[in-house]
Amino acid sequence: MTPEALKVVVATHNSHKVAELQRILELQVPGIHLLAYGGPAPVEDGDSFEANALIKARAAATETGMPAIADDSGISVDALGGAPGIDSAHFSGERDDAANLRLVLERLGDESNRSAAFSCAAAFVDPLDTDAEGRAFEHVALGVWPGRIALEPAGVGGFGYDPIFVPEGLDVTSAELSADEKNAISHRGRAFAALAAVLRERSRRGDS
Ligand code: IMP
Repeated sequence: MTPEALKVVVATHNSHKVAELQRILELQVPGIHLLAYGGPAPVEDGDSFEANALIKARAAATETGMPAIADDSGISVDALGGAPGIDSAHFSGERDDAANLRLVLERLGDESNRSAAFSCAAAFVDPLDTDAEGRAFEHVALGVWPGRIALEPAGVGGFGYDPIFVPEGLDVTSAELSADEKNAISHRGRAFAALAAVLRERSRRGDS
């Protein structure tokens, strides 16, 4: 995989996500060029963040014939048995950040065990690099960001559950961090840093 050939599609309908990932990855993988792929969304029926990220990356790789990246993320609350987990985006029954976050606070009530973690799985599938059986190269990296659920929302930054997530070692919510501060330590930042290391290694070896 020569640097100038390193074009990778990102399975997302969100152009901000592509720009953000480009910034994170290009520091580590010289010449990487991400392109948004907003094709038909596959059914995410995996039972883990990793499985769902792979489903999305495989679909994009199959549709485009190009190396593809996808992620899947969410928040898991210990006292709720790991919920919302892979159902984070529509925990309340709708894709509604405020309703989802309210439901977590409601379900937790005055529970004293408020441990929680954000997770992000970042998957890479390269249909141009197949093994003897014709299987595409695949790699999934998982980033975990431990913390706890606040008693009430605070902060206006970020999205989703950020206003109720207090990262380990801090006493503010992730909605009170700047985007750069959050990216440097978040589950997504960690997952893509790990994936970048794999991509850089492959590009050094001249794979794909
Ligand atoms: P996905 O689009 O299937 O990965 O769903 C991710 C969902 O998890 C989002 O809709 C948010 O509710 C939640 N989530 C994931 N990452 C974050 C984050 O960094 N901050 C807040 N909420 C997040």
